[in-house]
Amino acid sequence: MDTEAIHEELDKRAAEVADQVVAWRHHLHQHPELSNREVNTARLVADQLRALGLDEVRTGIAGHGVVGVLRGGAPGERVVALRADMDALPVRDACGADFASAVVDADYPGGPFPVSHACGHDCHTAALLGAATVLAGVRDRLPGTVLFVFQPAEEGPPVTEQGGARAMVEAGAFDDPVPTMAFGLHVTPHPKGYVGYRVGNQYGASTLVRIVVTGKQTHGSTPWEGVDPMPAVGAVLTGIGQLYRQVSAFDPVTVSIGHVEDVGRFNIVGQTVTLWGTVRCAVESDMVRVQQRLTTLAEHSAAAFGATATVEYLQPVPPVHNSGPWVEAGLPTFRRVVGPERVVETGATLGYDDVSELVGRFGGLYVMLGVQDATLDASGRPVPVPGGRGLVTNHNPHFYADDGTLVTGVRLHAHVAYDHLAGTLVPSDAA
Ligand SMILES: [Zn+2]
Ligand SMILES: [Zn+2]
Repeated sequence: MDTEAIHEELDKRAAEVADQVVAWRHHLHQHPELSNREVNTARLVADQLRALGLDEVRTGIAGHGVVGVLRGGAPGERVVALRADMDALPVRDACGADFASAVVDADYPGGPFPVSHACGHDCHTAALLGAATVLAGVRDRLPGTVLFVFQPAEEGPPVTEQGGARAMVEAGAFDDPVPTMAFGLHVTPHPKGYVGYRVGNQYGASTLVRIVVTGKQTHGSTPWEGVDPMPAVGAVLTGIGQLYRQVSAFDPVTVSIGHVEDVGRFNIVGQTVTLWGTVRCAVESDMVRVQQRLTTLAEHSAAAFGATATVEYLQPVPPVHNSGPWVEAGLPTFRRVVGPERVVETGATLGYDDVSELVGRFGGLYVMLGVQDATLDASGRPVPVPGGRGLVTNHNPHFYADDGTLVTGVRLHAHVAYDHLAGTLVPSDAA
């Protein structure tokens, strides 16, 4: 069978599974689970993969990770890892759909939290199940092996737990067979059906920061009898704004403290205040410097008020990097799947995705898939379409993804997988 015929077959099978993918997505959206709690999502995934008759369905990897192994019947040595993340966010669901989530996780550390798929991982999981269905249907003609990787805890597990892509690597999920390519996509506020790509860092490096400022507890009426950590915290928060001036302005850095936790009361000067935040760097080499300066700032600001500070950096995630040769190899596939006019370059962001643990190790690609009522303006920036649902960023309670775009996700996975196994989607330096 020639290549064109198999591409057509992939599209035909994707169209046949499209309604089922939407149904999976609605179910997952209505039943979201937080990072490292993806029990029912993983069960649904494993059940579907088993029903497809894959060669192996490995479960319970690094928590609730699932890997389906499909060995093709045609000669070929390559191994492609297609990855979807499964976890949801502690965000209220205001997407407005009739399948919106009403789930509350009462037991999650720091909770209770409303839970929703405000990052669209329901779409990723459903689309990859669709791709597994498509590729299993042509297994005898696949010249290599496909790993369907369903990853937990992309959004970061509770700090007392391990989890995510690196934990799957450490658990041996990719030891046998070892991928020769990893591929992932993320739904994003771009025009529906567009593929956005970037040569270089698509997403930045990220780390979680925890700063504990410790004073000495005392009665609120006698602050001189103790040490109040609050003014030290104020100085740290203010000083963070100056960190930007200590690294190159040409490579963006952000430090955001999103959560402040104190143990005081209106009439008690509490012993500690804990700050939780995230550090993002467009260039990974800036990360060490920013961390050193933030640590110095916190320790010395605390000292100025007689308090102490300890600073920890947790859950480091490397940047998502698309190399030039890989992008060049992938563009013909993307252009065939969505049409050349819908394949566009995008800017970098300071979001993160720990798919970088796979793309960085095994080579491969990561792209953005547009899912919203948008168009591109003259300078190529997405703008809302009149009468549409607007542009809403991921992690916003109103985030939405158009069901009609899911089949494009299915086709992207299926075509990328086939082309890599067939040897047409391979970087020139590895050919
Ligand atoms: Zn996210
Ligand atoms: Zn995400």
